[in-house]
Amino acid sequence: MDNIAILCSGGDVSGMNPALKHFVEYSLKKDLIPYFIYDGYEGLINNDIKKATYKDVAGIINRGGTIIRSARSKRFMHKKYRDIAKKNLDTLNIDKLIVLGGDGSFTGLHIFFKETGIKFCAIPATIDNDITGTDYCLGVDSALNIIKSSIDSIRDTASSFRRAFVIETMGRDCGYLALVSALTSGAELCLIPEIKYNLKYYEKDFTEQIKNGRKYFIAIVSEGIKQSSLEIANWFEETIGIESRVSVLGHIQRGGNPSIYDRLMAYKFVNYAIDALLDKKEGCMVSYCKSKFCYKSLNDVVNTIHHLDKELLSFLD
Ligand code: ATP
Repeated sequence: MDNIAILCSGGDVSGMNPALKHFVEYSLKKDLIPYFIYDGYEGLINNDIKKATYKDVAGIINRGGTIIRSARSKRFMHKKYRDIAKKNLDTLNIDKLIVLGGDGSFTGLHIFFKETGIKFCAIPATIDNDITGTDYCLGVDSALNIIKSSIDSIRDTASSFRRAFVIETMGRDCGYLALVSALTSGAELCLIPEIKYNLKYYEKDFTEQIKNGRKYFIAIVSEGIKQSSLEIANWFEETIGIESRVSVLGHIQRGGNPSIYDRLMAYKFVNYAIDALLDKKEGCMVSYCKSKFCYKSLNDVVNTIHHLDKELLSFLD
C-alpha cells in the first residue's frame, strides 16, 4: 500500500476539517495509507507526521479551523529546511502530498517540487478567493455567510441610531469578499482595491439621500484599500454629516461552522486531488472553473497574476 500525506498551510478556513475527514476515508477506500502533517510546513520540517485513522476524524465535519492546525513557516523559505522536510517524507516512505492553502503556500510547494520532484496535488483553500486558475477556493462560502450575518446584525443597530457603518472585510489585496457581500447585502458603498475611487463622487448623492429621509448607510470596504476604515468613517461624519462607526470583522470571518457548500466542495476537492495522484497527474492544483472541476499546472497558477472576475467588477459601476 502507498502512503499519502496532507497538510494545511497559510490562513485556516472553515472547510478544512471536512476535507481532512474525507481525505482519510477516501484514501483508505483507495488502499492508500493516510498521514497527517501537523502545523503546515513547520510540521514537515519538524517531522510531526502521523498516520491518520477514522478515529482521528470522527465528529469533526461540523467544526471550523483544522484539527491538524495550520502555520506560516519562515524556515520553509530556506532550502536547508526544505531538504530536511523531504528527508522526513522519504524516511516514512511518503511520496504523495496534498496541500491545502493559499497562493503563498503554493509558491512554496512549487519551489519544493522543483527541488525534489515530490508528487503533489494542491487544493485552493483561502477565504481571499485570490488564487489564479480557480473560480472558487475552499472556505469562501462559509466566510461570506459569516459576513452576511454580521452585516444583517449591524443593519439593525445602524437603523436604530441613524448611523453610517463602515464594515471592513478581509481579503488582503483582493476585493472579492467585500464585493460579493456588498452586492448581496444592498450596501450603499463598496470600496475594493481593484477599483479606483474618489469619495467626492458620492458626496452630492449621499447628502441628498439624507435630506430625502435616509436613516443609515452601510459601507463595505476591503482591508486592501488605500485608506483606513476610520478615514472612511470620518468622511461620513465630516462631509456627509451622519454619525458613523467602524466595524472590523477580522478573524470571525475565518471561523465557524462550515457551510453545506464548503462541506460538499471539500469532499469533491479531496476526491479530485487523490484521483489526480493515483492517475499520475502530479504537479497540479484542483480547480473549479465555470461550474466544473479540472486540473491546472501549479507552475501556471503561481506565475500568473490573479484578476477578479470582470463580470462581478462590472456590477460595481
Ligand atoms: P492565505 O491566502 O490564507 O494567507 P497563503 O498560503 O497565501 O494563505 P502565506 O502566509 O502567504 O499564506 O504562505 C504560507 C506559507 O507558505 C509561508 O509561511 C511559507 O511557509 C510558505 N511560503 C510562502 N512563500 C514561499 C516561498 N517563496 N518559498 C517557500 N515557502 C513559501
